[in-house]
Amino acid sequence: DRLDREIAEILGLDERREKDSELFKVFSEVFDKTTVETLSYFHRRGKIEQLLGVISTGKEANVFAGVDSRGNKIAVKIYRTYTTEFRRIWEYLAADPRIGYLPKDIRKLVFVWTRREFKNLQRAMKYAVRAPEPIAFRNNILIMEFIGDENPAPRLKDVEKVLEKRDFEELYEFSMNAIERLWKRGDMVHGDLSEYNILIWEKPVIIDWSQATVKRNRMSLTLLYRDLRNIINYFGRKGVAVDDLEEKFKELTGD
Ligand code: ADP
Ligand code: MN
Repeated sequence: DRLDREIAEILGLDERREKDSELFKVFSEVFDKTTVETLSYFHRRGKIEQLLGVISTGKEANVFAGVDSRGNKIAVKIYRTYTTEFRRIWEYLAADPRIGYLPKDIRKLVFVWTRREFKNLQRAMKYAVRAPEPIAFRNNILIMEFIGDENPAPRLKDVEKVLEKRDFEELYEFSMNAIERLWKRGDMVHGDLSEYNILIWEKPVIIDWSQATVKRNRMSLTLLYRDLRNIINYFGRKGVAVDDLEEKFKELTGD
């Protein structure tokens, strides 16, 4: 039917003639009716012309490289609507003062989660913290700027072996600046900052804003402490003269 044809188009199945491509495999394993309909919605509006390949398959979401109708590359993060992470997602959302109503239904909860990540990306950009530019969201799908060229940009973890002391020092500065600016100016905390969520490109870019929240959240201090600890420990292991964790935490939280 129409949806099937549209999906074949989005996945480029006609051109490639490989129904067993990795893209198709990942697609069929995790995509339900909502996802297919949402993809089709974006397709009709030119936001997603085609998905080109799988960048990452995670517990909560899969990330695809794609292209819009103008030929711009995009990153498409598609949350699973049936996730085992329900409890964690629920707890994080329940603590966020920006979220008014929490749906009981897991699908709808994932939609709220997706929208929150989009809002977090906007907020990070507003405070000049480098993140992929958010483009659109609907239901469980988030479209954002693609970081990379032919291939997606590597994560800090992927390139750490070829980096030098000077690089680590700069990246440490970058990370600490981001934490501080987010907290002080943006009243915000990333909450999952690590070598896995920093992409190394022309300039470093912080990704994966799904856990990010505002200072008013009762979990925000815990999240801030966690980000500081991850960054300080990681760069400390790489030989950077890092700040003292407790001191930095006190300095930022003012007691
Ligand atoms: P997860 O919750 O699965 O960790 P992420 O948002 O970190 O989700 O995305 C998973 C992976 O997808 C990242 O580690 C990165 O390699 C890739 N990725 C995510 N966003 C982008 C983007 N905007 N551009 C390029 N690659 C991306
Ligand atoms: Mn991640």
